[in-house]
Amino acid sequence: MDLRRGNNLEIIPQVVLLQRRIREASLALQEGIEDKITWKASGNYTARSAYNSQLPSQPTSAMKTLVWRIWAPGKIKFYLWLLHHNRLWCNDRLQRRGWENPYFCQLCCRNLESSFHLLWECNTSREVWMKAATWEGCAALSPASWSASNSTTEVVAAILNSAAPGERRGVKSMVALIAWQIWLERNKCTFRGKTPSTLSVIEACRRDVEQWRLAGAHAIAPPFEETT
Ligand SMILES: [Zn+2]
Repeated sequence: MDLRRGNNLEIIPQVVLLQRRIREASLALQEGIEDKITWKASGNYTARSAYNSQLPSQPTSAMKTLVWRIWAPGKIKFYLWLLHHNRLWCNDRLQRRGWENPYFCQLCCRNLESSFHLLWECNTSREVWMKAATWEGCAALSPASWSASNSTTEVVAAILNSAAPGERRGVKSMVALIAWQIWLERNKCTFRGKTPSTLSVIEACRRDVEQWRLAGAHAIAPPFEETT
């Protein structure tokens, strides 16, 4: 109809393109037969296939295996996700916004507190990780494995690389559990003036390991026990 009205400058390229598309798709158009809509991606429509076909060039995120698929309570997974994305409200972040903060890491009182420092560089935290590495099946948690890493995701990847394949599931849960307890200790020191103590972090981890096992964390059922 538009062609007949002489409106063809804009329309002709579209008609040509449409014809080419029809030819390329080897569609046999038959008069009198209604068009049928099918979902090319996987036969049946699913939200997942729609997402994948719209974002085919998106890099696959490591968060699925490092955070969402591990055995841990939901709130701890969310905490881990923030940690991996460097979005925890540590003093470096508060400082950048000009918000009130004590500047120093409250576990060692030596460095500006960043989430990387707090979890992986701080002497207090490293003592916790070293102690945890003496538990059976947890040797990969030793700070020696992440000496060259610069981000939480790199550290966790390094820890998993040094763990035996059969122990990785358990190690992932242990990383979540210990990182969470270090964060709780940090909060107690920051907001309630507690004196930092590696012993109380370790004790909290050991108590949680038992509870997680009871709650169904089979990957960290024994061998995660004291070797002594
Ligand atoms: Zn520190």
